[in-house]
Amino acid sequence: MGMNVQETMSSPLVWHPQTAAEAWILKQNFGIESVYISGGTLLRTHWESGVAAMPQHLIDLSAIRGLNDCKIGEQDLLIGGQMSLQACRTNLFLQRHFPMVTEAIRTIAAPSIRQIATIGGNVASNIGDSIPALLVYDAEVSWYDGSAELQTPLSEWLLHANDSSRENERLLLSLQLPFKKSEDDSIHDSDEEKDSNAKMKRFSAYHKVGRREAFTPSVVTAAIKGSLTKSGVLKEIRIALGGGQTIPQRIEQLEKEIIEAAVDARLLQHVYDRILQLYEPREDIFASAAYRKTTAANLIVTELWKAAKV
Ligand SMILES: Cc1cc2nc3c(=O)[nH]c(=O)nc-3n(C[C@H](O)[C@H](O)[C@H](O)COP(=O)(O)OP(=O)(O)OC[C@H]3O[C@@H](n4cnc5c(N)ncnc54)[C@H](O)[C@@H]3O)c2cc1C
Repeated sequence: MGMNVQETMSSPLVWHPQTAAEAWILKQNFGIESVYISGGTLLRTHWESGVAAMPQHLIDLSAIRGLNDCKIGEQDLLIGGQMSLQACRTNLFLQRHFPMVTEAIRTIAAPSIRQIATIGGNVASNIGDSIPALLVYDAEVSWYDGSAELQTPLSEWLLHANDSSRENERLLLSLQLPFKKSEDDSIHDSDEEKDSNAKMKRFSAYHKVGRREAFTPSVVTAAIKGSLTKSGVLKEIRIALGGGQTIPQRIEQLEKEIIEAAVDARLLQHVYDRILQLYEPREDIFASAAYRKTTAANLIVTELWKAAKV
């Protein structure tokens, strides 16, 4: 009964820090010989496909206290980064007030994987399919930088996604989704002004296009959220696009151009043309950048048209 020496030698050491500070110190000590791991579902695919080698030290974040559930605060919903995608998907508050997040999660992987995969891992991967939905709700990220817990808009967090020198600094702890509590104690996401509700038509949609109907990696993800006056003028608009290896982004320049405009055929053409110009998806062997741009433009234009039509 000989021991498989090679396997023993190549097995990593798994650390279970109890606090963000402990996790941080481990990462500082082991540097590139280590990796933070939450559910490990994405990391495993990297190791198995040879995209990355398994490092010697795995810093398992699942034991860090207080990151496993959702808390409804005064002005935001706090989602612990260690919450599983399944727990997020079945959370009633998220379903009711942030339905695009629930919808995005529904499209990720399969139920068995969603039990293990975390929302924190999805966001920390910088390309997770939940990100466009989170972006249009103005999500913020809480993270630990070695001395304090900082809060940053998710859109800003993503700007540093490719900055490898900051790798050690980014220990994601939780996400915040802002909302406003109105006097009757009902809750709206933060742009929703109670008194303008009656006059305003609100719309939102999340789409994921893959290479097949279900259980598929994304080619394009698109989230849109806005409000229209009765006469069809856009009073609020957020558009976020991602998919595949593209780091999702808000198309803020376009948002600025169309706010206060009436949704008509000319505006729809403008939106279409500008998405082709402004959105810069990464291409891979499965789909060209041109295909991704066109798909994204079609999805967004269709949703705007639907919102203005009914
Ligand atoms: C079969 C299959 C299908 C999949 N389909 C999809 C899909 O459709 N859409 C999709 O978006 N994803 C998909 N995934 C990828 C993955 O399951 C999800 O992105 C998942 O949410 C990742 O979460 P995790 O907890 O497993 O992350 P992990 O694998 O643990 O980590 C992911 C990355 O984030 C880093 N990380 C994790 N937590 C933190 C933290 N708190 N702070 C800093 N860095 C951190 C890790 O070092 C790693 O780089 C799929 C995976 C598999 C195996």
